[in-house]
Amino acid sequence: MKTPLAEAPTVPKTDGKDDTPVDHVAPDAEPAAPTAPPRIYQSACPALLSGQVEGKLLPPISDKQCGAQSPLSITGVLVNGKLVPVSGRVTTSCGVATALPAWIGAIDGYLFAKENTHVAELLVGTSYMCRNVNNGTSGNLSFHAFADALDIIGFKLADGRTVTVEAGWSDALSSEGRLLRFAHDAACAQFTTTLGPEANAEHRDHLHVDMGCHGKSCTARLCE
Ligand SMILES: [Zn+2]
Repeated sequence: MKTPLAEAPTVPKTDGKDDTPVDHVAPDAEPAAPTAPPRIYQSACPALLSGQVEGKLLPPISDKQCGAQSPLSITGVLVNGKLVPVSGRVTTSCGVATALPAWIGAIDGYLFAKENTHVAELLVGTSYMCRNVNNGTSGNLSFHAFADALDIIGFKLADGRTVTVEAGWSDALSSEGRLLRFAHDAACAQFTTTLGPEANAEHRDHLHVDMGCHGKSCTARLCE
């Protein structure tokens, strides 16, 4: 009777680079397998890459229900070939950042045509903030909670003036009042939401702009 063949001894696979036998290590002394940190997936922002906006990508924000995967820190906007500084330690989305150059460019064009001056600085109040709409204790989260909104306090002009919504809006016929109304209306063309002092008392001292989704296909705009 033929005995079954003994199993062939298994030959360890080798790539030929290292044939030296490995010293036996006691199981309890085995080093832990190295763990790679999980990859953080973020999106690049074309407005940043092209230099239309000056700033940098920030790490993802995750704070309760608030947050943003690819927030940006914005420090300047390229307007008619010049970098206009943005004050206020702005943290915002790529969508908002992308809308800024055309908006500030329109305001700059208005100022040059009407008053022979330029925008020297954009003054921003709140940008990212984990809070509800109108600071309510209940209700929907604001788009500020997703770094997708900015509150614009006003503008510094190249002629030395500082024009704020709080001080300049009330007199609609003044140079400042006209500029701020132009800025409000021009924002409506670039952002999906623009809310100024006429919207409600919460906005008496700033223009709120955001890239929130309105309508079934995100193409509706809110301009108040
Ligand atoms: Zn706001």
